[in-house]
Amino acid sequence: MTDGDVLGPVDLPARAVRPGDDAYEPARRALSVSAVVPEDRPALVVAAHDVADVAAAVRHAGRSGLPVTVRSGGHSTAFAALGDGALALDVGALDDVVVDLGSRTARVGPGVTSLALAEALDGTGLAFPVGHKAGVGFGGFLLAGGNGWNQGAWGSACESVRDAEVVLADGRQVVLDAAADPEAFAVLRGGGPVFPGVVTSFGLRLWPEPAVRRCSVHMRAAGADDLAAVGAWADSLARVVAPEVELTLVLGKADSGLGIVASVTAFGRDDRHADALLAPVTRELPRVTAAVVFSSTTMPGLLRAEPAWPESGCVAQQAWTRAGYAEVLPRLAPWLPSAPSSGSSVLVSSASYRRSAPPAPDTLHRPLGTLTVAAYAVWRPGDADAANLAWPTATLGALTDVTTGHYVGEADLRRAPGQLARCWADGGIDRVRAVRGRLDPTGVFSAPPGLTPDLLPADRPARS
Ligand SMILES: Cc1cc2nc3c(=O)[nH]c(=O)nc-3n(C[C@H](O)[C@H](O)[C@H](O)COP(=O)(O)OP(=O)(O)OC[C@H]3O[C@@H](n4cnc5c(N)ncnc54)[C@H](O)[C@@H]3O)c2cc1C
Repeated sequence: MTDGDVLGPVDLPARAVRPGDDAYEPARRALSVSAVVPEDRPALVVAAHDVADVAAAVRHAGRSGLPVTVRSGGHSTAFAALGDGALALDVGALDDVVVDLGSRTARVGPGVTSLALAEALDGTGLAFPVGHKAGVGFGGFLLAGGNGWNQGAWGSACESVRDAEVVLADGRQVVLDAAADPEAFAVLRGGGPVFPGVVTSFGLRLWPEPAVRRCSVHMRAAGADDLAAVGAWADSLARVVAPEVELTLVLGKADSGLGIVASVTAFGRDDRHADALLAPVTRELPRVTAAVVFSSTTMPGLLRAEPAWPESGCVAQQAWTRAGYAEVLPRLAPWLPSAPSSGSSVLVSSASYRRSAPPAPDTLHRPLGTLTVAAYAVWRPGDADAANLAWPTATLGALTDVTTGHYVGEADLRRAPGQLARCWADGGIDRVRAVRGRLDPTGVFSAPPGLTPDLLPADRPARS
């Protein structure tokens, strides 16, 4: 950790709003991209436009006894930027992207989105394992670990973080990297919403730009036998495809039974290599296959193809498992017809089933299973809000006995705070606690709901 200056004045930026201000409710709601948010009422919402704003806000919070929450891209599935009585700091405007082609590196602000970086790199010969949705912010995505495109070959996105500029609880700006403070750097790469500081920029390693080819296998499953057959096919495919191939099954309600799309994406050196990577997909298709569609795209093209959910409520829950597709799919089947919204879906992915290299050692985030299962509720506001909010966690309840952990970026920390301790391998929460105790001894960064009380200093009680 490199010491920096104490930055900026203690005065808050003019963009700070309080309950009662006209701008308060829009600013409070904008802390999440979901159109349905909890009722939590921050004491202050501060929009930072530069590092000095961030430092001033953090120092103000420290002096006033307000816990700090942070918003970058607003995609927290636990609504972690919202906290009753908190100073909610919006750093979404810190969205600069600077690419250095020579050193194959980039520096990005926390408000940069997956699509913005993919577009900035498009055609440069370089790429990054950006998140799967266009609007996900780098702040929360990289801190949580980052399950990005082509992670089988490139690793989790946080493993490509070289350093970060961070404002600490006392308002100092420091540079964190593996040499300066390996433990704090590890918690930066996987601590997610309990990282004790505000990241104002990340230094990234970039990868050679791939040729991207996709194969979508559209299927319709009427009953348990069909699902078992699809699961067995996906298990055998996951075993043989190369690390540069990402396999995700998207399950949703259909007119009769379940609609399943196996989305298989190959990241090759060139088109020929990408085609060869996809060859195993169509060797033996499940009998319920209705259509197979091949396409070529680019990294930004992958993101533009993902469905967007403007003006919708959105909440998710993820679980790791070592069970195979053939076991997981039949267990989920009864839950999909019960989804309160037709926009809801479950994604089952073996993206990190086979990796080119083991996870980097100075990284808290690591795969805790061979499949990730994520349930997303997406709905029109006011249309059974409570049922939709509860559906993802209830759905993944069908996998409780085979769940081996959770991803801190998509854990349901509001409904199930106990999941936090299961977001890391054994001893992970002790490493988080030790770094928090050292960098934030008074618990300035303590408001995200779901933060377990045992991560807080004894004299600061848990909120909400
Ligand atoms: C539709 C959707 C798709 C998703 N797809 C993926 C995916 O493909 N891969 C994946 O890995 N995850 C995915 N996620 C999960 C997502 O990556 C995490 O929720 C992540 O935290 C979102 O980051 P954000 O900056 O957009 O969210 P925010 O809500 O702004 O941030 C989440 C939390 O992270 C912390 N944080 C954010 N920025 C900072 C900062 N600058 N300094 C300190 N702390 C900070 C804060 O505690 C904050 O409350 C998805 C989520 C949704 C809703």
